[in-house]
Amino acid sequence: MAKRLTQEEFLKQAKETNPQFDYSETVFKNTRTKVKVKCEKGHEFETLPKPLQKTNGRTCPICNKRSQTSSYSDEPTELYFLQIRTDDPEFKYVYKVGITKETVQERFTAEDMTRIKILRQFKFQTGKPAHDFEKEIHKALSEYKYGRSKPLSYGNTELFSENPVELLGLG
Ligand SMILES: [Zn+2]
Repeated sequence: MAKRLTQEEFLKQAKETNPQFDYSETVFKNTRTKVKVKCEKGHEFETLPKPLQKTNGRTCPICNKRSQTSSYSDEPTELYFLQIRTDDPEFKYVYKVGITKETVQERFTAEDMTRIKILRQFKFQTGKPAHDFEKEIHKALSEYKYGRSKPLSYGNTELFSENPVELLGLG
């Protein structure tokens, strides 16, 4: 007969296989009873213990659903590269890469537009290729993330300290 798995043993295996989750409130009872886990973004969900122990890189069902429903659109989508003037003495300009179904002028306030220079725009017929391209670029720029100041009234995530158009040769 197989030895019963203890809470401690279960947590050790789950943390090894899926270290991306938070197990601080996880209580293991037995292999047929679901356990509670939290993802990196703080979503709580329940799952059977086995996938956590045995399958690498499990993803959070709440994150999965969000990325399916919110990011992809059937409408034309624009990927934009912006240069933004800051008040940070060390980084006079920072750069933003993002997607929008509106125009850049509609997406940002008139005041923010006084700081913004559009470097490059790519138009896509639907959201998916724009979203995929954006993801690739954010990944390529991940070491240049900028967070020292907030030059825009909103949308200050995904700012970068290096010019992506030059860096990635998209000019
Ligand atoms: Zn999540």
